[in-house]
Amino acid sequence: MIGDELIYNSLVDIVGKDSVSNRQEELYMYSRDPGAQPPRKVDYVVMPKTVEEVQKIVILANKGKIPITPMGGGLTLSALTVPIKGGIVLDMKRMDKIIEVNEKSKYAIVEAGVSQGMLKSYLEKNYPHLQHSTPEAPPMATIVGNALICGHGHLTSMHGINSNMINGMEVVLPTGEICKIGSCSISPYWFTRGPLPDLAGLFVGWFGTTGIVTKISIQLFPNPRLRDLVVFSTDDPDSLPEIIFRVFQTEIAENFFIIAQDKPDWMYGHIYIVILITGNSEQEFELKKRELTGMFDERVEFMEETPPAFRKRFLDVPPFAATAADFAKGGGFEYVGGILPIEEIPKAWRGTFEIVRRYKVVFSIAVQPLDCGHSVMFGPIYSFNRAHEEDIERVRKIMGDSNKMILELGGILWKAELPGQRLMMERMDANTLELMKKVKKALDPNGIMNPGNWGD
Ligand SMILES: Cc1cc2nc3c(=O)[nH]c(=O)nc-3n(C[C@H](O)[C@H](O)[C@H](O)COP(=O)(O)OP(=O)(O)OC[C@H]3O[C@@H](n4cnc5c(N)ncnc54)[C@H](O)[C@@H]3O)c2cc1C
Repeated sequence: MIGDELIYNSLVDIVGKDSVSNRQEELYMYSRDPGAQPPRKVDYVVMPKTVEEVQKIVILANKGKIPITPMGGGLTLSALTVPIKGGIVLDMKRMDKIIEVNEKSKYAIVEAGVSQGMLKSYLEKNYPHLQHSTPEAPPMATIVGNALICGHGHLTSMHGINSNMINGMEVVLPTGEICKIGSCSISPYWFTRGPLPDLAGLFVGWFGTTGIVTKISIQLFPNPRLRDLVVFSTDDPDSLPEIIFRVFQTEIAENFFIIAQDKPDWMYGHIYIVILITGNSEQEFELKKRELTGMFDERVEFMEETPPAFRKRFLDVPPFAATAADFAKGGGFEYVGGILPIEEIPKAWRGTFEIVRRYKVVFSIAVQPLDCGHSVMFGPIYSFNRAHEEDIERVRKIMGDSNKMILELGGILWKAELPGQRLMMERMDANTLELMKKVKKALDPNGIMNPGNWGD
C-alpha cells in the first residue's frame, strides 16, 4: 500500500492538479447518485483527458491496490458509479471528443465522456439525416455508460438494445494494456463487431469491473422527416402480450410504450399504449396510422385526440421521463427495469399493483418492448422526497419486493443495484457464476475495478 499523500501527488503528476481532488466538498457529489441507494465513501475523483493518462492511473492503482470506479454521467439511479470500497472515481467527462462520423457505414466514434446531448446536437448540426438511439435519461448521460449497461433508447423497440449497437471499443484493461474490440482491432474502419470472437461481452453488462472503455463506435440510423404518435387505451392487462405481438408482426413502430400512472386523475386506472410512427412522406405516414388503428380487438380503444401531455412526453427526443414521475415533489426517482418475456407482463402488472397498494405509494409504470418485441423492459417507477429518509427507505423496500417478483416471473434485473445483483447471483447457475469469477480474475488480478459489484 502507498500512503494517501503519495497517491494524491502521483495523481496530480498524471492529470494535473485541476483534474484531481480529495476535498470533501468535491467528493460529496460522487459519493451518491440520484437514486435511492445510500451514499458511500469516495477518496479521490480524477478526470483524465487522454488514454495514456488512464493507463498511468490504472498502473498506479495496481501498485497501491486502490479501487477504481469508472463514471460517465453517474445516472443509472442504482449507484453503479458510487464506489462500494472507496478509492478513485474516474470521471471520464474530459474525454469528450467526437472523433469521426462515417456517414455511409453509419457509425460515430466517440470518446468515453461524450454525452447523449453532445452527440445529438452534433448530428443535428452536421448530419441531420442521421440519429443515434437516445435514452430518456438526462442529456449528460454518456454514450459509453449507456451502451455498457445495455441501455434502451428511442430506437430500441425497433433496432434492439443500445449495447447491440456497439461496433467496436478501445479499452484500457485493468492491468494497463490498451486493447481494441471488433473490426478496429484489424481494420481502420470501426464498422462491425463480427465476424470475430465477440470480446465486447467482456465489458458489456460488467458495470466497469473488467476495464475502462476509452472510445466506442456506435451505430447511427436514418432520421425520418416525420414523427407522430398513435395512442390507444385499454383496461385489460391480459391484452398486452397480444397487442405487442401484433404490432411487431409489422415494422410500423419506431418506439413503443405502455404506461399507467396514478396521477393526473384522468389517467388513474387505465392503461395507455403509445406507439411512435415515422415516415418520409405524408402517404407513408397515413398508411402506417391506418394499419395500426385497425389492428386490435374491442378491448383496445383508439384515442382520436392524443392527450397533449403525451405529445410533450413522447415527441421530444429524449422524452423527459423524470418530470413525468416526480409525484413526491422531492426530486427522488427510481425504477425497476425488469427485462421480461412478453407473456409474463400481465402477472408482473398485477404483482406491481399489489406491491404499490400495499406500500401506499403513488407510482407510474412504463413498459417498453425491446428488439421487435423479443422482450420488454418492465419499469415500475417510484418517486420519493429526497428530504425524507423514511420515504427513501420505503422505496428501497419496494425495489426489493419488485426485484423478487421480477425474478420469480423468470425475468432479469436491468442495471441492478447491489441488493438486486446479489439476488441474481443467488439464483445464477453455479458454473456460470464460477465462469464470471474466472473472467474477472483473469482480467483484473488485483481486483481494483469497481470492486463489490458482481462479486465478493
Ligand atoms: C430520468 C431518467 C431517465 C432514464 N431513462 C433511461 C432510458 O430511457 N434508457 C436507459 O437506458 N437508461 C435510462 N436511465 C438510466 C441511466 O441514466 C442511463 O442508462 C444512462 O445512459 C447511463 O449512462 P451514464 O453515463 O450515466 O452511466 P454511468 O452511471 O456513469 O455508468 C454506468 C455503468 O457503466 C460504467 N462505466 C461508465 N463509463 C465507463 C467507462 N468508460 N468504462 C467502463 N465502465 C464505465 C460505470 O462504472 C457504471 O457501472 C434514466 C435515468 C434517469 C435519471
